[in-house]
Order: sequence, then C-alpha cells, then structure tokens
Amino acid sequence: MPAGCDTWGMTPDQAGEAAEVTAFWRELGIPGLVDVHVHFMPANVLAKVWAFFNEGKEGGRPWHVVYQLPQDERLALLRAFGVRRFGALLYPHKPDMAAWLNSWAVEFAAETPDALHSATFFPEPGAGEYVASAVAAGARLFKAHLQVGRYDPRDELLEPVWGLLAEAGVPVVVHCGSGPTPGLFTGPGPISEVLARHRDLRMIVAHMGAPEYTEFLDLADRHQGVHLDTTMAFSDFLEWRMPFPRDLLPRLAALGDRIVLGTDFPNIPYRYEHQLHALAKLGLGDDWLAAVCYHNPTRLLGLRQGAR
Ligand SMILES: [Zn+2]
Repeated sequence: MPAGCDTWGMTPDQAGEAAEVTAFWRELGIPGLVDVHVHFMPANVLAKVWAFFNEGKEGGRPWHVVYQLPQDERLALLRAFGVRRFGALLYPHKPDMAAWLNSWAVEFAAETPDALHSATFFPEPGAGEYVASAVAAGARLFKAHLQVGRYDPRDELLEPVWGLLAEAGVPVVVHCGSGPTPGLFTGPGPISEVLARHRDLRMIVAHMGAPEYTEFLDLADRHQGVHLDTTMAFSDFLEWRMPFPRDLLPRLAALGDRIVLGTDFPNIPYRYEHQLHALAKLGLGDDWLAAVCYHNPTRLLGLRQGAR
C-alpha cells in the first residue's frame, strides 16, 4: 500500500481517529505500536462475543462494542493506526474447541503477516499434543482465559502445556484477574502455583490483573517472566469499577520493562485512542510510554526492532 493511502476507503471519523493514534506514537519517536492483546476469531465466535457484551452481561453497565466491523475493515483500521504487530488472541469456553480455533489461527496468520500467530488450549486430553503442534507450526503467543473457560490452571491436564510453553519461551496471555467478574479460579492464588512450578514461564497477566493490581505486581516482582498488559486498565470504563490505586504508580515505573501494550481491540466500548491517552495520563513519561507501546512487546515477542 503506498504511503499516505492507508486511510483509503475509511469514513472521515475513522481517518481522524487514525491520525490521532499515529500522532501519539510519532511523538514518542517509535516506529509504531505493538499491541499484544487484540482478538481475531472465526466470525461466528466473534459475533457471539459481541452479542454477550452488547447485551450488558459483562462489566456491570452497557458495553457497546465500538468496532463491530468486518474482518478486513478491522485489519485496515489497525494498519492505519500504525499497529505494526498484534496478537490475534482467541480462546475456548468449552472442551473440544481449542484445536479447531488453533487451526483457524494457522490460516489467519498465514494470510496476515502482521498478526502474531496465536493459539490457545483447554484442560482436556490431548492438550499437550495440540499445543506442541501449534508451537512447532510457529505459534508465538498463546491465550488462556480462566474466567470464560472456568478452569483451574493447576489442572494436571495442563501440566505438559505450561511445561512446553516455558521450555519453548513462548509467552502466554492469561486472563487470571477477577475482573470484570470473578471466576472460580481467578485471582493470584491458582496461577501463582503454576508459576512456582514453571519458573521460566513467560506469562502476560491480562488487564494488569484487575482488580487485584497489587497482588499481580507482587507476582511480577517474584517472577522475572511475568509481564502485565495494559488492556482496558486506566480507561474511564475500567476506572469506574476497578480504579487503579494511584499509590501503585511508582511500582509501574519500576516495572517499566515488563508492562506491554494491550487494548482488547475490537471488543472495546470506547475508541482505541482512549487506551493510549489513558496511559499517557498516568504521567510516567515518554520513555515509559515508548517502552510499553513498542520496545517491551518487541523484545518479549522476539520481533525485529524497527520492523514495519
Ligand atoms: Zn481480551
């Protein structure tokens, strides 16, 4: 695509949004954004996720998904925003689904070079095998959703999975915080037992671990491999329910190399730029922002610096 034509075919509103997002990262002197927490899923699965949020079944107040667009339009928007690489996270809510999602993800990654080949799993017989195949096929990022999946991360069927990911050094985004609504196995307890057994695991705690911010920062202090993604954290939407305690800001600064940009695009009830401005408003400085939005995820995911 020739330079300057990235917003071709967009509404004036979308083009304006793209201009705001690109101005944000250009001012930081980085080559774009790397967003670890973006969702791409088969269309019928994504439609169900949107229906669930739109009906207000999550979050305690209406959660109207802003980016309910066809897949090619969502991709065009991310590219116009200057998101150089992004996760394509997907996750099962029941058994016998993960392997199918993973095969969809292989095709999606093959036709979408800027998407990170992502994969998932569920505690079920064969999980170790299909995770091994996904890693062998080049998966660079996994997602585990303990709240939606309602499973215990300590399940013995997952032991080979955690072991494999730790050994391969492939990061896994884990929704293990108790927000927006607690699950049977959310909270820092169960997942910290997994980390105690798999000390090399590279784990990205989704949503900064909301609302257990302190406990998940403690976990990151104890384990070098633990990172936290910014997904929805600090946004007006989450602050309204689960405010990030301001006295933790110095710890965010101190852990500045292990915080990575995540947004939950496209399943968000506000515009993409709101996440970026919410990060800027923390007042931790341009170097911190540049690290979070580009350098940290680039390093964690083993991407080439400056890659377009
Ligand atoms: Zn998500």
